[in-house]
Amino acid sequence: MKLLVTGGAGFIGSNFVRYMVGKYPHYHIVNLDKLTYAGNLGNLKDIEDKPNYTFIKGDIADTEFINNLFEKESFDYVLNFAAESHVDRSITEPDIFIKTNVLGTQVLLDATKNNDVKKYLQISTDEVYGTLEETGYFTEETPLAPNSPYSASKASADFLVRAYHETYGLPINITRCSNNYGPYHFPEKLIPLMIINALNDKPLPVYGDGLNIRDWLHVEDHCQAIDLVLHKGQPGEVYNVGGNNERTNMDVVKIILNELGKPESLIKFVADRLGHDRRYAIDATKLKTNLGWNPKYRFEDGIKQTIQWYLDNKDWWENIISGDYQQYYEKQYSNR
Ligand code: NAD
Repeated sequence: MKLLVTGGAGFIGSNFVRYMVGKYPHYHIVNLDKLTYAGNLGNLKDIEDKPNYTFIKGDIADTEFINNLFEKESFDYVLNFAAESHVDRSITEPDIFIKTNVLGTQVLLDATKNNDVKKYLQISTDEVYGTLEETGYFTEETPLAPNSPYSASKASADFLVRAYHETYGLPINITRCSNNYGPYHFPEKLIPLMIINALNDKPLPVYGDGLNIRDWLHVEDHCQAIDLVLHKGQPGEVYNVGGNNERTNMDVVKIILNELGKPESLIKFVADRLGHDRRYAIDATKLKTNLGWNPKYRFEDGIKQTIQWYLDNKDWWENIISGDYQQYYEKQYSNR
């Protein structure tokens, strides 16, 4: 069995590659990644010599490269994690989001269609559903209503994936997950940003009133869900993946400060993100009932494990925050 995992050097992709390489020694996992600012082969140091793992550098939006690769490699499964993934960056530079997230998906779908692939799995997001008020949950039937250039690009990709199933009978699945957290999370995202700033006694920038709500999903639980959908998901179906762990951003920040023994005076409110969705919450009943998914992490335990990982892996994040990311960070927060 040969699996193509795109974006496998990013946060969720690298956790998934590690999970699959360990769990299925008889599968071959090919990790294709462009190595953008978010891609880091340091995420996979511990498995890079495994015989059932290969890394290839390349762009999912490069049609010729992708077509040649598919002809050469004969993949059984294609899992598309590759994306520009940061909402803030999509507000300032939407074009690359369209190129990678929309055109890149179409290139992969065509290559899948023209080769003998058993399934194409698209890793999507709950952000395609838009925003919720205080009550209610996103189900797979909730109409798509994306609010940011990032979520619009992901929703466009989802529509293409759906259309390739309806039009060409492509065996596809789409998973839509809530906010992931855990090891190897890039420091621009809320949880690692807050952990690292707190460790460095730097201000913790909190958008708006800090009361936006996200549903946190541990990345290992997400990997297990994708494994289930890959092997048992009904062709053409969408599956929501959510942690049932709703927290305001302020709650998350306070938990982190408390765990690290740092004062709440480090919290600094900054101007809100444009078009900031108020609340996301996922109903994952379909995945639990139909495929038997059973997440193992409670947020209280997962966040402690994650904080400990950042304490134990200082070299990993110090390397990242000393590079290009530092310029982005200064630009993003200097005028707020
Ligand atoms: P990430 O930004 O950490 O990683 C993305 C990876 O894709 C990087 O390794 C990058 O180098 C690679 N990449 C970018 N453009 C590429 C291209 N053109 N060709 C090949 N590789 C390219 O993202 P993540 O947080 O790991 O997210 C993975 C997927 O899950 C994305 O599709 C994202 O939309 C989705 N998702 C993430 C979350 C979350 O909480 N992180 C939540 C919902 C959905």
